[in-house]
Amino acid sequence: MCGGTAESDFEPFAEETATTVLEKSIFWGATDAKPEVYAAEDVSQATIDLTVEWVNKAISYWGNYGPLEIWIVGSGKEETIALDDKWCEVRTEKDPTWNEQWDCANGDPYESGNGWSPFYRYITDGGAAVSNYIREDIGYYFNALIMSSKYPGPEEEDYKPVVLHEYFHVYQQTNLSIPESPDTDGDWRTSNRNVYFNGGEVQVPFLMEGGAEYMAQYWYSMEPDVDLGYLKRVMEYKAEAINPYLNSGKSLRELGYDEEFNSYDILTWFVAYLIHNTSEETFRVDFWTQIENLGFEKAFETNFGKSADDMINEFDLWVAQPVNLLLEIIP
Ligand SMILES: [Zn+2]
Repeated sequence: MCGGTAESDFEPFAEETATTVLEKSIFWGATDAKPEVYAAEDVSQATIDLTVEWVNKAISYWGNYGPLEIWIVGSGKEETIALDDKWCEVRTEKDPTWNEQWDCANGDPYESGNGWSPFYRYITDGGAAVSNYIREDIGYYFNALIMSSKYPGPEEEDYKPVVLHEYFHVYQQTNLSIPESPDTDGDWRTSNRNVYFNGGEVQVPFLMEGGAEYMAQYWYSMEPDVDLGYLKRVMEYKAEAINPYLNSGKSLRELGYDEEFNSYDILTWFVAYLIHNTSEETFRVDFWTQIENLGFEKAFETNFGKSADDMINEFDLWVAQPVNLLLEIIP
């Protein structure tokens, strides 16, 4: 993929300088700083404004967390390659220890597929994501919230709750200030941070995705321009995942990203159920802010009154009822 030697001429003097910078620049959590925005040249000002507007709404709902960079990808290959270059420029400027050879674009991901860049896949796959860069081996910690031009595109209503969903991931991740150890194998499922968020041995989307999706849709539904039946309509659609989930015989916490049904949808129903039994604030504020000190299992039990496994068993019985009864808990 990306050959070359890493250990070339790294002199002790340079190493010492890097360490000094590292100690001074590391920051993670609640902040007063505004997010920085970087957009490809083929992204319109209207799309930039829309994205910033909804990140700002998320900040007004849940607080300002960072450091946060917003990267907006368009559809053109040349423009995306230029954005890859901008990424590398920003990275190396903020972090002298950044591994330019491996963590900037390399190889030829666009044509041969052999190589990597932070943004190449968005012009074909679309979508949105948050990547957290909080690793012991880097000198500047940050979150990159990436939006693209399709699935959803900025002209779709979905674009707005998706921005909220992604920002909730920033909120989730910045509530855990323990950096990822560099000796993990680069697999997100085995990262020490992921263990905090999901608990158990099988590392899964579970409350990360269910939480982000329910919070995004719930808060979006309360915006003045959104019609009253919005959240029930969204949750009714998500109810299509219930039967395939129950038939799968899997526990909620074992579900991965590639199930035969939409795992996010059933996880969103689980979070709706948790909040119905406690409160939105218990879930969003108390639970997420106690994970770092208590760990996932204890934070869960403390806030929701039983273990995650017991709650999942209870949910499985509840969610097997007719959808119109389930929808009664949705505001
Ligand atoms: Zn997500």
